[in-house]
Amino acid sequence: IIEVNLTPIWGEKDGMGVVAVLHDITAIRRLEKMRTEFVANVSHELKTPVTSLRGFAETLLDGAAEDPQMRREFLEIIHRESLRLERLIGDLLDLSKVESRKMPLQLEPIRVKELTYPAIQTVIEAMKKKGLRFRLDLEEDFEVQVDKDRFSQIVINLLSNAMSYTPSGGSVTLSAGKEKDHWWIRVSDTGIGIPEEDLPRIFERFYRVDKARSRESGGTGLGLAIVKHLVESHHGEIYVDSQAGKGTAFTLRFPL
Ligand code: ADP
Repeated sequence: IIEVNLTPIWGEKDGMGVVAVLHDITAIRRLEKMRTEFVANVSHELKTPVTSLRGFAETLLDGAAEDPQMRREFLEIIHRESLRLERLIGDLLDLSKVESRKMPLQLEPIRVKELTYPAIQTVIEAMKKKGLRFRLDLEEDFEVQVDKDRFSQIVINLLSNAMSYTPSGGSVTLSAGKEKDHWWIRVSDTGIGIPEEDLPRIFERFYRVDKARSRESGGTGLGLAIVKHLVESHHGEIYVDSQAGKGTAFTLRFPL
């Protein structure tokens, strides 16, 4: 997109002329478009749980509260939807923090085993409850330089996704290793996988392969966008390898 500014000028000898200044505003327009789309997406995502909260509260007030079974069912929905809303707001705040780079990383040396432990603790019970097997596969325990809390969030997001998108009876593996000039960590699962055509878009904010399934599992559609930002702020790269129906592996690589 080119914006043209025309300025008339007067020359003593030649009479009138025009100076044309051309600006390439493609990048600016693209950014504006992304911002408007983001605001529209956020509004929509916030509106959905709020509409449901209001609907169920109104139905209860209109008399459904008299019926103990309905009362319990609707209150459970209200509870679940408010948790989703809370998670969405939390993810939005996290995303805005990592995107604005306001919080510098607190890098510290830590061993990989110790680094992954809190993340595993966070999800392990829910995994067991869902009937998933979990395996930790560390070739060796080595030291890395990371921001402990932020890195935990990366691992929690990946493990939570692996759990959400793997049917019961499947397995989730967390592995890590060290090469000459880099180290890597991988979360793989034997779940539903991601169709090839969706792979390039899964790191976009609010992109979901299956909106209904993501909602059902409590997803906000922001998890991988946050992960990608956090990985990049650690100067790392993220790769995804997936086959629909077979499983998915997210591999992160960081310089040593
Ligand atoms: P969500 O909150 O919907 O899980 P994410 O940003 O974490 O959002 O992931 C984006 C989408 O990528 C998900 O909706 C899902 O379709 C797909 N996805 C992410 N991780 C996996 C996985 N381990 N297996 C299958 N699909 C996945």
